[in-house]
Amino acid sequence: MFVKKVLRALPGATLTFFIIVLVDLQLRARHPQKNNKTSLFGGILVRRPTQGLLTSATGHEQKPLDSPLDLAEATRTGTALRQRNLPYRPKETPSTLPGTHLQLSDIFIAVKTTGRFHGTRLALLLETWISRTKENTYIFTDTEDEDGALKGYNIIVTGCSPEHSHQGLSCKMSAEYDHFMASDKKWLCHVDDDNYVNPGALLSLLSAFPPDGDIYVGKPSLDHPIRAHELLEDNRTREVEFWFATGGAGFCLSRRLAEKMAPWASGSRFERTSAVIRLPDDCTVGFIVERRLGVPLVQSPMFHSHLENLLLLTPRHIPLQVTLSYGLFENKMNSVELKGTFSKEEDPSRFKTVHCLLYPVTNWCP
Ligand code: UDP
Ligand code: MN
Repeated sequence: MFVKKVLRALPGATLTFFIIVLVDLQLRARHPQKNNKTSLFGGILVRRPTQGLLTSATGHEQKPLDSPLDLAEATRTGTALRQRNLPYRPKETPSTLPGTHLQLSDIFIAVKTTGRFHGTRLALLLETWISRTKENTYIFTDTEDEDGALKGYNIIVTGCSPEHSHQGLSCKMSAEYDHFMASDKKWLCHVDDDNYVNPGALLSLLSAFPPDGDIYVGKPSLDHPIRAHELLEDNRTREVEFWFATGGAGFCLSRRLAEKMAPWASGSRFERTSAVIRLPDDCTVGFIVERRLGVPLVQSPMFHSHLENLLLLTPRHIPLQVTLSYGLFENKMNSVELKGTFSKEEDPSRFKTVHCLLYPVTNWCP
């Protein structure tokens, strides 16, 4: 009797079982990232830069990336690490992010300065962020350190003109490129001497890229590609358009891409390329990468120059940015607005205030 009942129920039960398996398989196929360990690169986020996420400037095919803003935020709260099933250890600026391939010592941070700013702009950087990544920071200047204030730092005294001219600036960028190429570092990041670099945020950003990618990442100062007149061999000119990351906000190049740039960037070639388009150093980098190599700029909203309104950055987001800046705009100080124990008179750039927020254990922080 019982056996008969079971036999009668069997076709229905078998059918139900197959339906469950089928539905399960379909769900897995639709959400493969749920069980995928490489989900860090799984989310493709291509939005306009004003919306605060990564995008390829030319709208070309975009490598899948997590937003560095989300990533940095998640890393601080531990979610990014938990997603990857890794233990979260709260630490201020770790030299490497657990589970990622990159360390701070893989990044060559080049700072461009000039003799007359050694005691002012550069001194502020040495006191703040450079103190956290001194070994990986290389200071490119035009004047010997006469009073010994720069002793113990990586100082490169270039033979470049100290002027704020296309030639002088391209000469320093060329030195940055050549020194990076001679090093064993994986990334070249350029900044000016009025930039604050958050080493932890920089590491978070660069860690999100595939280790062997052709990456040029930074922020344009224009909302459209720049138009230049490329000088041809027969003295005619050709109009070219390309995006470039503004040097005043800082930008980074991966080694693989930097190697490909050599025919237009190594030795005296960088300055020659700069002369071909008659534009300064940062535009020249954009020209080589986008026009000569066909690699699109990856725009990141995490880099900041004083050409943008820095007041728009909210206090909550300031500590997550890769770079900050300050400077005069229409005779008024343009800097981030952040409350802290340093007054605006004591800390007009707000770099000390930012630094004490990021590294409260610093001996001069209140
Ligand atoms: N700079 C230089 N020589 C100068 C003036 C500036 O090498 O005579 C460098 C300066 O150290 C900085 C960069 O060029 O790293 C940009 O200079 P600044 O911020 O004064 O001008 P901006 O281009 O931002 O308006
Ligand atoms: Mn500047």
